[in-house]
Amino acid sequence: MEMLVERPSALSFDSSENQKMIAQMVRDFGSREIKPFIMEWDEKQIFPVELFNEMGSLGLMGVLVPEEYGGAGFGYEEYITAIIELSKIDGSIGLSMAAHNSLCTNHILHFGNEEQKRKYLPKLASGQWIGAWGLTEPNTGSDAGNMRTVAVKDGDYFILNGAKNFITHGKSGNVAVVIARTGAVGDSHGMSAFIIEKGTPGFTSGKKENKLGMRASETAELIFTDCKIHKSQMLGKEGEGFIQSLKILDGGRISIAALSVGIAEGAYEAALQYSKERHQFNQAISKFQGIAFKLADMATKIEAAKLLTYRAGELKNAGKEVNKESAMAKLYASETAVDIANEAVQIFGGYGYTKDFPAEKYYRDAKLCTIGEGTSEIQKLVISRAILK
Ligand SMILES: Cc1cc2nc3c(=O)[nH]c(=O)nc-3n(C[C@H](O)[C@H](O)[C@H](O)COP(=O)(O)OP(=O)(O)OC[C@H]3O[C@@H](n4cnc5c(N)ncnc54)[C@H](O)[C@@H]3O)c2cc1C
Repeated sequence: MEMLVERPSALSFDSSENQKMIAQMVRDFGSREIKPFIMEWDEKQIFPVELFNEMGSLGLMGVLVPEEYGGAGFGYEEYITAIIELSKIDGSIGLSMAAHNSLCTNHILHFGNEEQKRKYLPKLASGQWIGAWGLTEPNTGSDAGNMRTVAVKDGDYFILNGAKNFITHGKSGNVAVVIARTGAVGDSHGMSAFIIEKGTPGFTSGKKENKLGMRASETAELIFTDCKIHKSQMLGKEGEGFIQSLKILDGGRISIAALSVGIAEGAYEAALQYSKERHQFNQAISKFQGIAFKLADMATKIEAAKLLTYRAGELKNAGKEVNKESAMAKLYASETAVDIANEAVQIFGGYGYTKDFPAEKYYRDAKLCTIGEGTSEIQKLVISRAILK
């Protein structure tokens, strides 16, 4: 993607020319390449790998990656806009795009050395390769710092043993950034991050989850059995992996907030349209105040979620600390998405409960947003720690 004009000044939330161009491009692409297949991918849990390869050619797989590494070289405003527009169409595609960009790719971009960046970023940003990021384990999700996957030093190598679960692109990912324990349990500096390519001996994928929603986004287990990784594959220094991950999640949460806004907008727009078309008691149901007020609440909450999300994005672009702001955006936007998707099903009535209308899918997809990249309870922990400091 080519940079058209400067982004708007800080804290003005009008769309820039770049954002308008990206939104239109995503809408056109989505109508052509995603809309016709949404329900088939959802029902069969198909992860459409080729779609992501194509999204790479549009710049959507390396939105934040500088052009010198093959990316689009944009900032968070454009990134948020792209995820919102994509997630309005299909939340699972939005989730996969967010995980690829914010987690795997961004971890290498921010903590990789020049050689690692030159080797991996062009492949990831072009969509030729799909990235995964493994922090969560079966017994340690919110408490990820207590992980048990180990990386034991052996000369110039580390030997990894253990498993990661719920990993987006756990099977189809060509490369994964994996956090493993290199020090004592309980030491936040006792974990390190490694870049591990698919096909490395001892690195396999396990169970693919059968999920409530986000079904076109692949979620699977990563398994390490005496997996030998050269020390040159470590990101940053030994012991920095967990602290790096927390920083990566600060940015990642902005993308989950954007995902939430997109799902909420999609559900709201479908419900708004339906409310004008559906007649009961000889009038459109939108004429009933009970329905109109629901729509008013939905529109207001979406606006608030958007403001929090773009605000966190602007701060991140400016290089400011966003730990609290990204948690607030993620918390509010994700809870709002669930709430709005629920109301959308209600406005559709019985039809909202069927797969012939889009409301039920927004409802199922939205729920992931309050769980992935830290549950709502964990966001409250982050926010309360920041305000009670
Ligand atoms: C579709 C999907 C995709 C995912 N993708 C990835 C990925 O790509 N990479 C990755 O590493 N992980 C990924 N995850 C994992 C995700 O980040 C975790 O599921 C999430 O962090 C929660 O962990 P858990 O599932 O183990 O729940 P738990 O941590 O067991 O939490 C269970 C409940 O306890 C609550 N709880 C826990 N601790 C506290 C506390 N201190 N105070 C109050 N309440 C608390 C939680 O909020 C939750 O309600 C994904 C998950 C899903 C479902």
